[in-house]
Amino acid sequence: MTTLLYSHPDCALHDPGAGHPECPDRLRAVLAAFETEEFARLERRQAPKIEIAEIERVHRRHYIEAVFAKMPVSGQRHLDPDTAISPASGEAALRAVGAVVAAVDAVIGGEADNAFCAVRPPGHHAEADRAMGFCLFNNVAIAARHGQAVCGLKRVAVVDFDVHHGNGTQAAFEGDAGLFYASSHQSPCFPGTGASTDRGRIGNMVNVQLAPGAGSAEFRKGYEERVFPALRDFSPELLLISAGFDAHASDPLAQVRLVTEDYGWVARNLLDIAAECCRGRVVATLEGGYDMVALAAAAAALARAFMDA
Ligand SMILES: [Zn+2]
Repeated sequence: MTTLLYSHPDCALHDPGAGHPECPDRLRAVLAAFETEEFARLERRQAPKIEIAEIERVHRRHYIEAVFAKMPVSGQRHLDPDTAISPASGEAALRAVGAVVAAVDAVIGGEADNAFCAVRPPGHHAEADRAMGFCLFNNVAIAARHGQAVCGLKRVAVVDFDVHHGNGTQAAFEGDAGLFYASSHQSPCFPGTGASTDRGRIGNMVNVQLAPGAGSAEFRKGYEERVFPALRDFSPELLLISAGFDAHASDPLAQVRLVTEDYGWVARNLLDIAAECCRGRVVATLEGGYDMVALAAAAAALARAFMDA
């Protein structure tokens, strides 16, 4: 299988400030993991910058303009208590969205089987007119809308195993029967949305709540009993993955206790479903993950599954 790895040096220039967990070292840790011989056959590509018109598929123009207008000349500026931007954050965000959209085009165009986007800032908390939870633009939701609008796809799914609920992605997908969103996340935890009973207004959402302290067994049960069957029923033409690695036991921001191999397990299962539904067309993009060692190991486990699919 051909697996693409999209990234860009600009993504390491976004700097939310000293001591912020969503730090440039996260990207460096992930990319360092891919420098070993095992990952030599990843096909590396530079993420292009996205056009503003593509971002408008999910975000309101006044919000996009406000984000760029607020870029500081030096230091940081906060968009909300958690989300800060620095002079290069605009470039990073354009590359992050651009990576996921380009990966969709490449996979749909048959240039590769699947792709992983090692980018930041992350995206799944960003709403139509609101930055939130370290996220400026919703990378994965914009890529899903691109898949519909440009690639002509009728059914696009996002599966999100970041430890936090992707409130922005769920909000973007509300009421669109051509989109499907499934998330596993700790509850209670930020942002507080995503109750297990919440299937969205038209039933195109699956939310799996995990209690603090939950581990591999609860995680795998949630996927086997709820996410995988619903994803098979939806039968996507393209599967996107919001790959956050902050449900790892070592992560400092939450209390779910996954081990590294859980990420290989969930990736292999999702790739199997994609092989049944859509010739294995899968694009994953980095969301959270704040313990550098766990983040690197879990991203490597995911990429290994992608290359072996
Ligand atoms: Zn997270």
